[in-house]
Amino acid sequence: MSEEFQAPRGFHDILGDDLKRFRKVTTTVREILKKHNFEEIILPVVEFADLFERSIGEATDIVQKEMFIFEDRKGRRLALRPEGTAGAVRAYIQSRLYTKRTYHKLFYEGPMFRHERPQAGRYRQFHQIGVEVFGAPQPYADAELIKICWDIIGSLNVKADIEINSLGCKVCRPAYREALVGYLRGVEGKLCDVCLDRKERNPLRVLDCKVETCREAVKEAPKMVDYLCEECREHYSKVREYLEVLGVRYRENPNLVRGLDYYTRTVFEVVSPDLGSAVIAGGRYDHLVEEFGGPPTPALGFAVGVERLSLLVGTPGEDDPVYFIIPLGDVIPYAIEVADTLRKKGKVAELSYRGGSLRKQLDFANRMGYRYAVIIGEDEVREGVVSLKDMETGEQVKVRPEEI
Ligand code: ATP
Ligand code: MG
Repeated sequence: MSEEFQAPRGFHDILGDDLKRFRKVTTTVREILKKHNFEEIILPVVEFADLFERSIGEATDIVQKEMFIFEDRKGRRLALRPEGTAGAVRAYIQSRLYTKRTYHKLFYEGPMFRHERPQAGRYRQFHQIGVEVFGAPQPYADAELIKICWDIIGSLNVKADIEINSLGCKVCRPAYREALVGYLRGVEGKLCDVCLDRKERNPLRVLDCKVETCREAVKEAPKMVDYLCEECREHYSKVREYLEVLGVRYRENPNLVRGLDYYTRTVFEVVSPDLGSAVIAGGRYDHLVEEFGGPPTPALGFAVGVERLSLLVGTPGEDDPVYFIIPLGDVIPYAIEVADTLRKKGKVAELSYRGGSLRKQLDFANRMGYRYAVIIGEDEVREGVVSLKDMETGEQVKVRPEEI
């Protein structure tokens, strides 16, 4: 096919078994969220670029190099959303949800766009289910969200580890930041070029650089958890206490910082050792709503990377058995009625468009993994029955369609 009719790099069709795994992830997550009384919100895919630049942070990878930005006809800068939190915060304020009740539990599902180098589990269009809680300062809200992540990997039977950390707050982070910058200046020789550049502008990001020499260099770095103010320390300790109560297994990772600027206090990731990357990530962002002109609203959330999680789940087994209806000869009116009867009974019925001999059609049904062939010839029509063939056992019986 000529290149102009192929999907652009990093953009994918999702179909077949991949789609089955994708849907297994989204339905499982939705079911779990439903039990927690989360409410769905559908957000636009396009927002003003500014919204992301100001919330995610100028010095982050997303804003510096990953956004799809374009101008509308009036020259305003728009962006395809790289993540969902900024839009959810914008919607929360714009719809004045805070006037309706004291807290909100929302989720959304849809495509996100980042101009990254495509590789396994990293695409330019990918999908997230994002969860946001507005108006909850309590540490048990953090614990509940992390428990939801735990339930997601449990329900999907996926091997992954939960890592948590606290990034402190406006009170305690400045002193930590200073200590960290001081430390990083001392190990400059070991830092990669990117980290040399970010050590002053966004020093926390150096802590999760994947380059081996940087990892080595930050081993002895000061840790945020040692700098937490009284309130942050109390909050973090409660989160861990509730996680114990909930039976969630987790690991504290003092170098977990997340790539976005808006986080405060608790951050967490669900990391797959097989992929070597996170499948779910989130944290608390207590000031973001206020920074965008809303009332002070402690908030927190996480995003599930649907494709990445899908890579870890098995293909769902036997779906509903398919009844493959094979009309032979001039029997179409009867055959379409049989298909309708079966569907009304809740069965999955497919009327063959294949044509050809009975043998060819049975071969086809076999290849497709269909469980039953419903053979209809002129004899069957006359007798008011169908010949039902079990493709697994080979057994064949004549039955009335209503009795299948
Ligand atoms: P990474 O460190 O892997 O780039 P991130 O910190 O940029 O991840 P987040 O912004 O936290 O990712 O997004 C939440 C989740 O969305 C990630 O944990 C991941 O599962 C998924 N995700 C992020 N970027 C991509 C992408 N380009 N393609 C597919 N999934 C992605
Ligand atoms: Mg990224």
